[in-house]
Amino acid sequence: MNYSTEIIQNFENFGTFGQIHKPNYKTQLCKNWSRLGCGHCGYGPRCQFIHPEDHGYLEVYPDTWHFAKEQEAHSQYVQALHAQKLVNPFYEALIDRKVREWNAQHPKGPNYYDFDGLTTKLADFYILDIILYMKSAKIQKSWIETGRGNHSKANFAAIRTNFLTNQFPPGVSFVPVPGNDGILCLTVV
Ligand SMILES: [Zn+2]
Repeated sequence: MNYSTEIIQNFENFGTFGQIHKPNYKTQLCKNWSRLGCGHCGYGPRCQFIHPEDHGYLEVYPDTWHFAKEQEAHSQYVQALHAQKLVNPFYEALIDRKVREWNAQHPKGPNYYDFDGLTTKLADFYILDIILYMKSAKIQKSWIETGRGNHSKANFAAIRTNFLTNQFPPGVSFVPVPGNDGILCLTVV
């Protein structure tokens, strides 16, 4: 090692105000910027945990404060469309499109679908599309967020019950995810 690289490496071990970085520096999301956080961290740029301006933030995006805010806005928008639907049935198609767009643009993980805001009818059409897609793309498992069923916002609970009790084509099954009964594992073989 020559003199200059040693200087650089030492320099890289120090934070903004000269403190030594811990081994897990910027490897975990700051709790203030997590889903249940407040969206502000008093440590600012000196914080040892991942902040929105750090590269790691995008990798954990579904767990972040910004994702939660986007999800809340999406959910409120879809709820407003439900109110409109009572006056004009055209809005049902818009609800369908908004939920599908949300899942395309904001996946919480690979093959993960959030059914928040769908009516049972829309959910039945959407799940058949997902099953057909899984068959054609040879994907065996997907995750369907239906909510827990202890609140029946936009037929959440009914969607879950339908998926667990309806007749589906052979090879298609739904199983509750252990430890998170708001999510069903959809298997297609
Ligand atoms: Zn922080």
